[in-house]
Amino acid sequence: MKKTIVMLSALSCAALFGDVLTPAAPGDVKVLGRPGELFQASLNCRVFSEYAQGPVYDEAENAFATHWDDSNGRTGWQNEYWGKTMLCYAGAVRYTRDAKLAAWCVKKAHHLIDTYQHPDGYLSTYGNQDLLRKNPDSPDYEKHWCFNIWGQKYTMWALIELYRATGDKKCLKAAEKMMDQLISQMKRLNVTIDKTGSWAGISSMSILRPLIELYIEVPKPEYKALADHIVKVTDVREGNKPDVNLIYDALSDRPVVSWFHKPMFLSKAYELQSFFEGVAAYHRLTGDARTLAAAEAFWEHLFREELNPMRSASYFDHFLYAKHHVNGMTELCDVTHWIRLNRELWKLTGETKYLDCIEEAFYNAFLAGVTPDGAWGAHIIRSHGTRHLTAPAQTGMKLHQCCPDNMLRTFYDWADTVADVAKNGAWEVNLYSDADIVLPGARMELRGNYPVSETFRLRVAAEKGGKLRLRVPYWASEMTVDGKSLKPAAGRIEMPVAAGERTFDLVLKMPPREIDSEAPDSEDIDTVTELDTMKPEGYTKRFMSWYTPEMKGLERRTAAAQIMRGPLVLAKGRAVGTSRTETLEFNTINKQPGWKLSLVPQKRSAKNAGVWGAWDLTLEKEVKGKGPETKTIPVADYWSVSCMDDPENWFSLWF
Ligand SMILES: [Zn+2]
Repeated sequence: MKKTIVMLSALSCAALFGDVLTPAAPGDVKVLGRPGELFQASLNCRVFSEYAQGPVYDEAENAFATHWDDSNGRTGWQNEYWGKTMLCYAGAVRYTRDAKLAAWCVKKAHHLIDTYQHPDGYLSTYGNQDLLRKNPDSPDYEKHWCFNIWGQKYTMWALIELYRATGDKKCLKAAEKMMDQLISQMKRLNVTIDKTGSWAGISSMSILRPLIELYIEVPKPEYKALADHIVKVTDVREGNKPDVNLIYDALSDRPVVSWFHKPMFLSKAYELQSFFEGVAAYHRLTGDARTLAAAEAFWEHLFREELNPMRSASYFDHFLYAKHHVNGMTELCDVTHWIRLNRELWKLTGETKYLDCIEEAFYNAFLAGVTPDGAWGAHIIRSHGTRHLTAPAQTGMKLHQCCPDNMLRTFYDWADTVADVAKNGAWEVNLYSDADIVLPGARMELRGNYPVSETFRLRVAAEKGGKLRLRVPYWASEMTVDGKSLKPAAGRIEMPVAAGERTFDLVLKMPPREIDSEAPDSEDIDTVTELDTMKPEGYTKRFMSWYTPEMKGLERRTAAAQIMRGPLVLAKGRAVGTSRTETLEFNTINKQPGWKLSLVPQKRSAKNAGVWGAWDLTLEKEVKGKGPETKTIPVADYWSVSCMDDPENWFSLWF
């Protein structure tokens, strides 16, 4: 079994079609250091524990027996949990190469297939097979709320990835039967996929990504035809444009929030990013230039309009011009998919700007959204206050929620982005957290606690001579290698490596830098009602204190600045010794030129013991007639001060 797994992993990660690089094979990068400890804890709790393989797994499977999703007039999304759970298991099989785990996954998948897949291939929690949207006659988008295809997408995707991780052909066959059934069903009902499901077809059409993965394994022309259809109906260039015209709109200059008649319903971050991940995969499959341009243009929109201060993309769970909102909120699923979108574009283009975004989203929004024991996660990660919104029970489930069920995939995506082999054979190292790396022809070790430390080491054992390329993040003008400063070209430095062992001493200088807010000077959250979610400010009013009543009154009305150090968002907080007043009420430095910032690492003590990076930040400014004004504040990495679910805590990334 073990041999089969290794062979399949290496095979399925080879550079596909349009990719310009080959990432390290899954399991060939082991993440270490503080992020690695959290990753391992999450694997232990969410994959290897009896609890995970017992009641947690059972609840996901049970949704196929109860049909809770469409009983009593409901249209729920319990349908997504088996697939999301098993995508995480398939990733764990590839990351750990654990043969016992692989056998367990195959046994469970076979039981699901044998028990719940209909002879025609239908495999869903929805008892009513033909319920593909709730009320097709209603013009209101919200009346279409239905997750039948959305959930089937995850089940099918997991079956494909289980096949790839274990070699089990029955899983692949079950996925194929599911897709055949869906295609013939839509034909029989005379309905096209863009007219099904929630958010005017966006959620259903995000099936594009796994559909392409299925087509790679089983190249049936009808699968390609459905993928072509999805691309065609979202790129209407002549005549009346449909309300959802995503590829066409992405290629326009209009911000995402203006693409839809009802952005408060349709501008949904998780679903839109899932869709464009499929658009990128469509380009990889076909070489179609317009779909790559659309995926890149969509990324540009998000980068310009939707980056939030936690370095994810979205405002709550929507694209509503996040850069204009000072109350930062982001769904953990949006972080996961922002990282996935960046990862697809990195593989297709090799451009390091995507790695910069992955790095910042991971160290800040993502890690802050994982509970310190790795077992659960946040639904909404916030810029400031007492705590994030820990994922609440959802859609009739007790042990599953959309965000924690995605969490492990981001850890795997991180591991799979650390290193790669470029088309010309160069070994590329992209991310510098402590790790053990195996690439064809070279083994490497990263040590030094980057990015808390500016200095770190890369040990390389090369079987033959070759080229080594190191990414230099956008905030660094140079990288020091063994005492020599090297300037990057296109975000990388390159050097020859001889056969044998060699250790490189590396330095990336990380002076603190101020980022002024693009939010208006005053956010009006007082004249809206709490439930006025038709206005973005209604989201602030409602969701900054959702499930956390002690957060009432902590919404910000004025813009403030951020301070970053390398890829880390710095924050004040109780855990690092900042007073509550200094953390939440302060004189901002936003758009006030002249402040000089400096950081000194804090001495380790019982006080800051649990904090990853702890510094004293000194702000200094010359005040006319008064001399220098100086202030020193204890600060830490945003993850360390914000990850605890404690109403007595306090933290803020605003300065
Ligand atoms: Zn979620």
